[in-house]
Amino acid sequence: MTCRHPSNTGQPSFPERERWLPSFDGTRRSSGHNSGTEPPLTGAGGDSAAVHDGPELSVVLAYPEKYSIGMSNLGVHAALRAFLEIRGIDCERAFWAQASAKVENDGFAGVAPEPGVADRFTDEAGRSVETRRALSEFDVVAFSVSFEGDYFNIVRMLAAGGVEPLASERGEGSPLVVVGGVCSHLNPAPIAPFIDAFLIGDADALIPPFVHAVHESAGRGEGRTEQLKRLSGVSGVYVPSLPRSEPVSPAPWAGRWAESLTVSPDAYFRNMFLTEISRGCSRGCRFCAAGEIQRPVRFRPVQEVIASVERGLEVTRRIGLVSAALGDHPDIVEILRALHERDVELNISSLRMEAITSEVAGLLAACGVRTATIAPEAGEQTLRRAIGKSVTDEVVVDAAERLAAGGIRKIRAYFMTGLPGGGPNEAAAVADLCERIQAAVHRHGARLSASLSPFVPKPRTPFQWAAMAPERDHRRAISETRRLLAGLGVQTTSAGPREAVREAALARGGEELAEVIRIVALEDVPWKAAAARAGVDLIRLVHRERDVDEVFPWEVVDVGRGREALRGAC
Ligand code: SF4
Repeated sequence: MTCRHPSNTGQPSFPERERWLPSFDGTRRSSGHNSGTEPPLTGAGGDSAAVHDGPELSVVLAYPEKYSIGMSNLGVHAALRAFLEIRGIDCERAFWAQASAKVENDGFAGVAPEPGVADRFTDEAGRSVETRRALSEFDVVAFSVSFEGDYFNIVRMLAAGGVEPLASERGEGSPLVVVGGVCSHLNPAPIAPFIDAFLIGDADALIPPFVHAVHESAGRGEGRTEQLKRLSGVSGVYVPSLPRSEPVSPAPWAGRWAESLTVSPDAYFRNMFLTEISRGCSRGCRFCAAGEIQRPVRFRPVQEVIASVERGLEVTRRIGLVSAALGDHPDIVEILRALHERDVELNISSLRMEAITSEVAGLLAACGVRTATIAPEAGEQTLRRAIGKSVTDEVVVDAAERLAAGGIRKIRAYFMTGLPGGGPNEAAAVADLCERIQAAVHRHGARLSASLSPFVPKPRTPFQWAAMAPERDHRRAISETRRLLAGLGVQTTSAGPREAVREAALARGGEELAEVIRIVALEDVPWKAAAARAGVDLIRLVHRERDVDEVFPWEVVDVGRGREALRGAC
């Protein structure tokens, strides 16, 4: 198959177009691997003390999606920093597809343009971007996984990189395959047969002791089985092939905040420096896994936020503030004022509606924010209360109007279809609410758009026992809502019900799903046909209300509040 790496098309490669923060530039020095396009990234020790001085360990940080998506994910930056801060680590990166928005637009996609898995199965998926080494040439392949839909690409990347996908079939010379990220916290079971160890918890807390244990094992000449036993003794490490009497608890937060190490024109957030201003959320929406797995909520001190922004300003004016609930930060006004004084071009995640004051809206607009997202989730106030999103219609409409009056030109509102307790009037209720929002924002020259997504009951939330509504119900609700909103002149986008049902299966399933994932990934068989071949009943898995006492596959890991507290929050 023809290699379509940009470096082979005369275009600069992705690493060459990146701009590293000066504080991290010192880590980019060659360790002698000159076979590819860029030197590898070698840990030189950053702000934290190096924990290891032994023989070099080669790690490839793998993201099972495009470069553009991976390098817009702060979890990837946090893991990369954690590896690079350990002296002697040679850490490179690999992506499912080394494509970016710009490169795709220019017709130089790193993946073949034809649809279909087989066509997209280029050798790019199995090689690092820095030296083009195959995954099989590294000591450790460390995946960062944020979305269940990326499970297929884990298997494809391993196969493309010359690594046996099933952990049980890897021999002594094979890399250690580990996974961290949100999905490993939510439910590691569906991919467990492919993975040697899951790293559960904060990257800064986990990666140094993990590396230390790998080195110790190597230093003692231990074989693979002994090495895995050693790893299973590290706090937050879950080795699925070894029996355990107790669930694994996550490694606690190390107290460090995530921020970009590099900005790039090829990232989805183009040339943008991302910085975390809070972690977790105390709102307790009953559908939200993000709020459950990162407890308690923590806010980054305002002076640290400003110092971080100033580091970003050394390479770009485009700053993205990352937070589950931006407006909840007690010093959000002070932060926004500081950003305005520094003339940043700001990007934000969604805003909690109660926190949108006229001052916040005006500061956001002054910092260049043109689009803001609010998330009423449901049209009916009673349904919002039932899902834990207790904001009244008036709060929603007033928040949108304040944003528009402050100078935000486009307001986007998120809604979900098929919520537990939702009735036949939900589409009309969403339309009614949108009509009120639209009237309010129009007065200030702004526009409203709506985004619709099927509700997926996620593990570790009070809705983990709930059945997901059938695909056809979501389809009908989306189509009816779109029709009503079109009549009001409100633009809508929607996520696909089929993909949502697949996401629910991957989120709620056990190890039986691994064979389905393998068949889809490596044999290019459609999802439902693969499930039928593997004997997995998707209807039972996704659309069945779970028994109160049912033991869930994700309970091998003890993240969040636990089933008793979740049950009490139903
Ligand atoms: S406000 Fe947002 S982040 Fe917080 S619990 Fe609700 S949905 Fe989750």
